[in-house]
Amino acid sequence: MKFKATIAGSILIFWLMLALGGAAQSAGLFADQLAEKKVEAYERIHGESGIKRRPLATIYKEFADLARAESQRADWIQYGTSGSGKPLMALKVHKKNFTSVQVDLIGNQQAKGESRPAILISEGIHGNEYLHITDRLPFEFMSVNQPHTEFERFLGMGGIIYFVPVMNPDGYSAGRRENSAGADLNRDFTIQAAGNTGFRQTETKAISQFIASEVKGQNLRVEVSMEYHCCIGGLIHPWAWTSEPLTGETLERHREVGEFVSDIFNYRYGTVSDILGYSAVGGSDDYYLETYGRRAFSFEGSRGIEEQRLKEHVSLWNRIFNVL
Ligand SMILES: [Zn+2]
Repeated sequence: MKFKATIAGSILIFWLMLALGGAAQSAGLFADQLAEKKVEAYERIHGESGIKRRPLATIYKEFADLARAESQRADWIQYGTSGSGKPLMALKVHKKNFTSVQVDLIGNQQAKGESRPAILISEGIHGNEYLHITDRLPFEFMSVNQPHTEFERFLGMGGIIYFVPVMNPDGYSAGRRENSAGADLNRDFTIQAAGNTGFRQTETKAISQFIASEVKGQNLRVEVSMEYHCCIGGLIHPWAWTSEPLTGETLERHREVGEFVSDIFNYRYGTVSDILGYSAVGGSDDYYLETYGRRAFSFEGSRGIEEQRLKEHVSLWNRIFNVL
């Protein structure tokens, strides 16, 4: 009787261990979620960039004025409307007289039918992480006082840059991470490989549709997307939804830009899990890399001081233009 009970006990233990195996996996998942919650809580308290936000209307007016002054190569475009009705705006910089077969003065050639390289530079998807970089970069590049050869060369080869100074204007105006519906927009992008359905928010839906229609309409290849955040001090690249590392040429393309950032800013680069030790589904970097297959980053500035590094950001972009 006692012997039978022991056998029954062993069988029970066997099944318990099988069940525990599954539970251990769930426990790992739970630990991930806990870590993510901790980081989110940290960011909620400390995410404020410490850089004074300028009124949205001021930024929009400066961009509109720039587009008027640079009408040969800039358009100020409304691509959508925020949850509370504010315009979602992008500055599109490109040579408007560019034709698909062209040799410019510096000698760059663009063959007929070849896709055109595009860059998306944006800031403020988290409304309280203003760095005061994206709203100054186009003014730097288009300044008549100093030559920006790399920028000119990029435009000369048919390149297009989209600047979105404030991706989440409702959050920005309220000094809050989320949009007016309380959603974290950087968790609202569809990542097919992760099986999640995003684009529930008007801001993410609008930017992804805008870029997709531009890509289709003008035969673009999105070479780089860069979203400015605060305040880790680093460059984050995909994947965020999985711990699987990038491989091959895709990894090399990201490491190349990571090395530029390391050189110029002395910041770390890597995945969100390398740098912060957590994973997150629905981020814009994962979306842009999964969709366009080239390079996607979140630049995490330093609290309170990143705005003093505009020159360094210009150098970073010059180095990026050079490898496209
Ligand atoms: Zn952020």
